[in-house]
Amino acid sequence: MAERDAAILGVLRAAGFEICRVEVNLLHGYYRDQDGSSTGETYPINPDCPLAVVSNNWISFDLQGERRDYQATIWLNDVVRTVAALNDDEVAAVKLAQLVAEAVPMVPIRLTWFGDMMVEQPSLDPHIREDEMIWKRSVVHGRCMGRLELHQVSDEWRSISCRKCRLRVYVPSNLNTFGELRKNAHLTKMGD
Ligand SMILES: [Zn+2]
Repeated sequence: MAERDAAILGVLRAAGFEICRVEVNLLHGYYRDQDGSSTGETYPINPDCPLAVVSNNWISFDLQGERRDYQATIWLNDVVRTVAALNDDEVAAVKLAQLVAEAVPMVPIRLTWFGDMMVEQPSLDPHIREDEMIWKRSVVHGRCMGRLELHQVSDEWRSISCRKCRLRVYVPSNLNTFGELRKNAHLTKMGD
């Protein structure tokens, strides 16, 4: 049991989930009416894999609690269903590696000397890849979680600004992809 749990925790961590443990538990979701209220009827969240993922929930500076991570539990269930349907072990291993790689969120990109980070909008699916154009995907400011917007300000420069806290950073116009922005983050300039 401990070995199985360790293997599953390894897969979940490799996929980018911050988790502390798994527990044997079938989770249920509630069907909702059009007005958003619960109908009282439930449906299984993880029918193919009766393991619920439990994450640390950061409550305050000195208090941590645990919570059931529905997103990670659904992901694990889908992975188990997909991989179990493959008869060939080698094919299954390749598929598992692919599913794990696809689940990893973008590594945050540092925008300023002060450590302001560009991060993916939470729960973004599919995750951002390094060769994608920065104006095509939703990103937020890691400090305040405000939406980051891109504007052309001159032929040579674009601005990245945070809708919430008004952070403004200038980046050279020839940086088009997330990968280019990450490699050349030293070229960004702070706005006023
Ligand atoms: Zn901000």
